Amino acid sequence: MTGDELEIVENYDSEYEASLAHAKLEAYGVSAKLLESRRTARHGAELPARTIVAVRCEDAAAAREILAGDHSAALADTPEGRLPPSPDELCKFCGAEELARVRGDVTVEALRWMFRMRKHWRCRRCGRDQ
Ligand SMILES: [Zn+2]
Repeated sequence: MTGDELEIVENYDSEYEASLAHAKLEAYGVSAKLLESRRTARHGAELPARTIVAVRCEDAAAAREILAGDHSAALADTPEGRLPPSPDELCKFCGAEELARVRGDVTVEALRWMFRMRKHWRCRRCGRDQ
């Protein structure tokens, strides 16, 4: 980006937020630069720094649109968009993620609740109770 005119598209209180914005822009193919801005109040005290996200002038409109957009639907379709199951969400016999809650009648469920017993699960794949 050396020699190109830069335009500020956003600024953040935290460097972390700015780095997320930077990563988002880079993921969409927009080259971005992070710049730190120190601010000084009238009486000379230094205010917290802000981190500025700047892009080439010709990319500024696209960058603003990317940063303002809600991309959660696109992320949900990626393999990384779904967290892996925790060990207690897997069948302890076959490892399947297909556990279904088994409900007893009202009395059994009331006793289970009173004695704080663990919920009863059954694997849909192998049929074993957990
Ligand atoms: Zn199983």
